[in-house]
Amino acid sequence: MIPHGPHDYLKLGDQNAICDVCGFKYKLSELKKRWDNLLVCDFDFETRHPMDFQRIPRPETTPSGGNVQPTDVFTTVTYADLGQEDDIPAGTFNPSGQSPL
Ligand SMILES: [Zn+2]
Repeated sequence: MIPHGPHDYLKLGDQNAICDVCGFKYKLSELKKRWDNLLVCDFDFETRHPMDFQRIPRPETTPSGGNVQPTDVFTTVTYADLGQEDDIPAGTFNPSGQSPL
């Protein structure tokens, strides 16, 4: 048998409901809908925190110079002929410590 509480009485046009936070039984007309769509009693009712509505300032989406693609820069590389299949660039790698050119 379900135990009876203080809210188990007949009120025409009303019904029993459970608070979504504390779980106690109330009449449906005593509960309120909170900002997160929960039906809660007066003790558990709270307003939404103002910081939830805070907007983060965003920088301008387009930088002031436009969207200019830089031109490609090509360089020439001289290769040292070491007599092997894979030659290495002479300007960036020198196994003897001296310039091969
Ligand atoms: Zn409650």
